[in-house]
Parts: sequence; C-alpha cells; structure tokens
Amino acid sequence: MAAVLGCIADDFTGATDLAGLLARSGAPVSLRMGVPSEPPRDVAPFEVIALKCRTAPADQAVAECRAALRWLREAGASRFFWKYCSTFDSTAAGNIGPVAESLMAELGASQTIYCPAFPENGRSVFMGNLFVGEQPLAESPMKDHPLTPMRDSNLMRLLAPQTTKPVGLANRLTVARGVEALQARLAALRGEGVAHVVVDAVADQDLEVIADACRDWPLITGGSALAMGLPHHYRAAGMLSASVRPPAPPDLAADAVVLSGSCSAMTQKQVARYLAQAPGYQLDPITLAEEGPGAALDWLEAQSMAAAPLLYATAEPQAVRAAQERLGVARAGAVVEAALAELAIRAREQGARRFVVAGGETSGAVTQALGVRRLTIGPEIAPGVPWTYCESDGRPIALTLKSGNFGAESFFADALSKLGAAQ
Ligand code: ADP
Repeated sequence: MAAVLGCIADDFTGATDLAGLLARSGAPVSLRMGVPSEPPRDVAPFEVIALKCRTAPADQAVAECRAALRWLREAGASRFFWKYCSTFDSTAAGNIGPVAESLMAELGASQTIYCPAFPENGRSVFMGNLFVGEQPLAESPMKDHPLTPMRDSNLMRLLAPQTTKPVGLANRLTVARGVEALQARLAALRGEGVAHVVVDAVADQDLEVIADACRDWPLITGGSALAMGLPHHYRAAGMLSASVRPPAPPDLAADAVVLSGSCSAMTQKQVARYLAQAPGYQLDPITLAEEGPGAALDWLEAQSMAAAPLLYATAEPQAVRAAQERLGVARAGAVVEAALAELAIRAREQGARRFVVAGGETSGAVTQALGVRRLTIGPEIAPGVPWTYCESDGRPIALTLKSGNFGAESFFADALSKLGAAQ
C-alpha cells in the first residue's frame, strides 16, 4: 500500500496530536519517531514522521525535514503536510518558514498556506492574528514559554522574517464565502507573487473549507486540526479503503509513571491536581546541574509503580526564569530533559508499562531514551492527545505524549483511567 498523505511534525507531541486526529477517520495511521533508517515497509495511508526540530538551528531543521520528505515520497506519498504547533511556536530565526520554503522548492510548489487554528482547543486565527481562547497569543501564557516565548500575535509578522518570499493573508470574510472564493483569493495572491498565505479560521467549518480548497496541493502547512478535513476527500476519491479496524490494545501491566517537563499554564494545573492523589517529586534544574539526578532516582526507587508516581520539573515562570538566568535557557532545558529521560528508563526497569508524558520537547527526550521508533495510535484521551502503543526494550508499553496546554485539569488521571477502560 502507498501512503496517501505524508506528514512531517516538528515535535513529538505535535506528531501524536496529528496522528490522533487523522485516526478519527478510521484509516490506519503510522507514526515514526525520526526518519526511519530503513526503506518504507508496512506503509499506512497516513504516515507521520515526528522530528524534534522545533528549536534546532534552521539549517539542521531543514535538512531533517528534507530527509523526512524523501522517505515519505519513497513510501508513495504525493501530498504533504508540514505540522507545527497551534501556537506557532518558533523563533525569529525559524523554523516554520525555512522548512516550508525548502519543502516547496523540493516539490515545485509556488504557494502554500499557514493555518495553526485548532478551534476544539481554543486556537483561532482572525485577520492573521492568532488567539488562545479569548487572548491574543502574545498576551497568553505562551509569552512565557521557556524555549519559544511568543511575543507577537500576528502570523504575517512572525512569518515574514522566516521566509524569503512575500507573505499574504486570506481572511475570514473570504473563507466564510466558501471554497471557490478562497481558491480565487489564493490564485490572486499567487498572481502577485505571494508564496506564503496565512489563512484565517475560527471554527471547524472554516478548516473544512480550507482543506477542501487545498486538498490536491502538494504541500499544506498548519496545526493538526487542518488535517482533519482531508481524509473524507481522499475517501471520496477512492484513495482510502472503507474498512475500519481500530488497533487492539496490548496486554499491559497497570504499573505507570507520569513525567512532566512542561511549564505551560495548563500543565501547572494538571500537576497540582494530580499531586492531590499520587506521590510526586519535583526536579530542580539547578540541583540537577550541580548534583545530577541521583536524588530523584533514589526517590523513584522507593516508589511503587502501582501508585503511578509523578516526577515533574513543571514550575512557574518566575522559577523558570531564575533557573535560566543561572544556567542559560538551553542548559536548563537540557538537564531537565536528560533527567526525565533517565527516570523513564528507571521506571520501566521498575515495571512501569504506561507512561504519561507532558511537554513536547520532554516527550522527544523520553521517547528517544525508551528507544521507541514506531507507534500505533490508540484511544483519544483529550482532543489531540491519544494513547499510543509501542515497544520499548522488547516489551509492549503504552505512551501518551501531551503537549503543554492540551488536556483538562484532570488529564493525568483521565489518561490512566482511559487505558484501563480500553483493556
Ligand atoms: P511544552 O509542551 O509545555 O512546550 P516542552 O517540554 O516542549 O513543554 O518545553 C518545556 C522546556 O522547558 C523543556 O525543555 C524543559 O526541559 C524545560 N523546563 C522544564 N522545567 C523547567 C524549569 N523548572 N526551569 C527551566 N526549564 C525547564
């Protein structure tokens, strides 16, 4: 079987989010962590490659995404989706624009669209400005993100320094007039040489119009929700089989661990809520940098995995800033990620088979440490956050990778009871 849509995601939680939403179509979705070293086999109609390139130098991110594109083309895909965060997480140096331009050049595409909207999770784009709930992006907690603080809400302004070709807007008034009006606007912009078009969307219906208007484009870019509008067009065109068979959950022990390296506002609430019902240990980047993770490993060793203990570096912006001033942004993140990765391995050795991980970068570090290369998408816990099934060290495990602001306050407990219910 050949891939119908090849997707490249700039972080691991983003990739599971996208894979989970594509799986709502009932078609098989395969999620691969990093570009596979071997040629494609067991190809699914929806192939998602998860990279960890959101904060990498732009030339490295571009090289990784080009390698992913080559693999997906070999897998038979002729349409591609470049997935980034619904809060457009990036820096002035990239990587959303540079990667899009490079993929466009490879594919011979003269234009692409940008739509990070995810209405179900409160992300909307209006007149080119991104909102988180009712707040402009730059006034939302994203302004304090440890790695990609978002201090402007205007997507055209954010994108322009990241691209060499002109940036334009197809606004909500056009999208509301339907598929043909949007196609006409995109064509007019193309005539003016506009290669990068931000497209407004405030509701799922807008995303459906956009997906319909661009369904045969070689490359579209956006948050995960935009991709949800694509499968039924492929099915109508006879590119997807009608048969639906959800994957069987593996036979897993109940033992679990929760690892959180996300400092997002929602994760802070989730950590506080979960600490009321389970044992927890807070990691401090400065202690980790000076003394290593020994104390945390000792604490973990004394825990029963049946209690699903929580290890977290999650902290308020003030504490994050203090650690970053002392260690530098990159090192503060790196010591936390390395510690959580080591703790994940130790938890597996202590019998944990269900891993709840919070944070995009954190998920990348933990997944790599567990040696997970390929995941099958299981039941959805919250919009954009499914359980996934995979193997680690020859044993079946389940992983859920939650990006910062996703999930309800009770997410950690929700996740653990959801997989229990599926068994
Ligand atoms: P999110 O999905 O919320 O963006 P990420 O895991 O992608 O979460 O990013 C959070 C980053 O912040 C990670 O690199 C993590 O290691 C780092 N971090 C976590 N806790 C702290 C802390 N207390 N101080 C400084 N940096 C931290």
